[in-house]
Amino acid sequence: MVASPPDPGSDAAPDIAAIRLGLQRIGERIAQAARGAGRRPEDVTLVAVSKTQPQAAILAALQAGQAVFGENRVQEAAAKFPPLRSDWPALRLHLIGGLQTNKAADAVRLADTIESLDRPRLADAIAQAGDREGRLPALLVQVNVGDEAQKSGVPRDEADAFIAACRARFGDRLRGLMCIPPAEVDPAPHFAWLADRAARHGLSVLSMGMSADFETAIAHGATIVRVGSAIFGARPAPGEVPRGSAARVGVGHPA
Ligand SMILES: *Cc1c(COP(=O)(O)O)cnc(C)c1O
Repeated sequence: MVASPPDPGSDAAPDIAAIRLGLQRIGERIAQAARGAGRRPEDVTLVAVSKTQPQAAILAALQAGQAVFGENRVQEAAAKFPPLRSDWPALRLHLIGGLQTNKAADAVRLADTIESLDRPRLADAIAQAGDREGRLPALLVQVNVGDEAQKSGVPRDEADAFIAACRARFGDRLRGLMCIPPAEVDPAPHFAWLADRAARHGLSVLSMGMSADFETAIAHGATIVRVGSAIFGARPAPGEVPRGSAARVGVGHPA
């Protein structure tokens, strides 16, 4: 059973054919980028970023064969995903947004992977919640590669110490690193920096690359790419009222 859509954007019926086509095209581009880098397509996991999308859009993606999804808000993920799990046992949820400490317990219950571990107090909260719940999601340390004040992530010069501390504490549950490079600059040096950091720490998972730059990220070793608008269409700007089909211009035609 599917719960009634609780989220923003639900007034616009999702364009199921466009989502299917978007997934197919992104899949092809991922495979091409991987082969171009001498890598295997199956070594790159697509996380379909479904934030702000109604549950019906997620269902359409599931029916098209997509299993892994990303959300940036715990509450929104909690409303949309648990009802889908029983019908879709292969479904995997990644939390990719900055995480408040007081949401850590919910995140630990909900997520298969938390990609935004970025400070000691959050590590404490996740560890405590993991003990209580008897489950611990896979974890990625998010690095604020551009040292931008408004972004989540451990600062670059604190990254080594924090990664080592998380490794000691979480062992194999710490899988790798994640970053969101600054907008408007060449992301390649940032991707290269993150890949080097992961290699130094013996971590195999690298979550980097979004709609605009996932091919560059794959060329630099990304094993996870997080793609939203190139699959589901443009999201309304924060505060903007979704306007039906106008919110989906650009599906299958990423800039
Ligand atoms: C929204 C979001 C994405 C996807 O962005 P698109 O440009 O729509 O592909 C990827 N990663 C994070 C952390 C996000 O918040």
